[in-house]
Order: sequence, then structure tokens, then C-alpha cells
Amino acid sequence: MELIIGWAFFAAVVGFMASTWNRSGFGYFLLSLILSPLIGLIFLLLAGRREEGPTPDTHVKCPDCKELVLKDARKCKHCGCQLATQ
Ligand SMILES: [Zn+2]
Repeated sequence: MELIIGWAFFAAVVGFMASTWNRSGFGYFLLSLILSPLIGLIFLLLAGRREEGPTPDTHVKCPDCKELVLKDARKCKHCGCQLATQ
């Protein structure tokens, strides 16, 4: 009985970790529950944390200060220079 509780507990921990890493918490919880929490954890560690940072889709580099600014910004938030809009 304790084994099942421990199993479910660690599956929940893996699911929680996944959600803090911007990944599907419920998906990793299910994976851990069905296969093994250890396998779920290994999968999660292999997949790594998903960064929700600037991407080339949303950001461009300011020509003056080389900082990343939003693509549709008209003014750089770092140095205040005017940006050409495409
Ligand atoms: Zn700038």
C-alpha cells in the first residue's frame, strides 16, 4: 500500500516539476503514474526547462545597443533610440 502512495506521490512531484518548467504537468504526471516516476523524471530532465524568453519571432536586436526589443516596438526600451519598423 505504501508503495502505491509513494508512487502516486512521486508522480505528482514530477508533474509539479514539469508545470514549473512550463511543461505539461498533467502529461508528466500521467506518464509517471503509468510507467514510473523515475522514468517520468528522466524524461523531464532530458526535455529540460522550456524557456519563454525572447525568440527571433517576437524580438529583434536593437542596432544601437544590441539588446533584444519587441519586434513592433518603435523605440528601444534600453537605449531609447528610434527603431525602423519593417
Ligand atoms: Zn537600444
